[in-house]
Amino acid sequence: MDIAKNAVVSFTYQVATAEGEEVDRSEAGHPLVYLHGHGQIISGLEAALIGHKAGDKVKATIAPEQAYGAHEPELDLQVPVEVFPEAARAQVKPGFRFKAEHPTLQGSEVVFTVHQVKEGQAYVSGNHPLAGKTLQFNVEIIEVRQPTADELSHGHAHGPGGHHHH
Ligand code: ZN
Repeated sequence: MDIAKNAVVSFTYQVATAEGEEVDRSEAGHPLVYLHGHGQIISGLEAALIGHKAGDKVKATIAPEQAYGAHEPELDLQVPVEVFPEAARAQVKPGFRFKAEHPTLQGSEVVFTVHQVKEGQAYVSGNHPLAGKTLQFNVEIIEVRQPTADELSHGHAHGPGGHHHH
């Protein structure tokens, strides 16, 4: 069958930036499994896979807007560690994440990650590491099947490579 809304799709992938730097690939022998049409993979890749079937190899170049979004310079900030609540300050280290209001879009929350702490200043970013990047995917479709009733009602794929929450 062809990939369309609600198909359960297994695929392997390799993804690089436009400059050719590999950023991720599926683990050998462990394809990614998703329920098509539910926003579980980036929108540009979902669009590129429509109509393909098992065995197809798909190359797709995906603009940031259909991947991890544009890079927003206003989300790269330097803030004094003192602005964090006293109880949280010890946790403010590289890798620490916290939610805060978007600096320019009122009412919108952003997850920030601390990248560096130096001289009482935390360097934080609310940008995804791949924001602003054009991505080149090399995909091989392994399997395309109908969803089970459970998968449809849960809105995700089950089984190897899918969700394991039962
Ligand atoms: Zn489920």
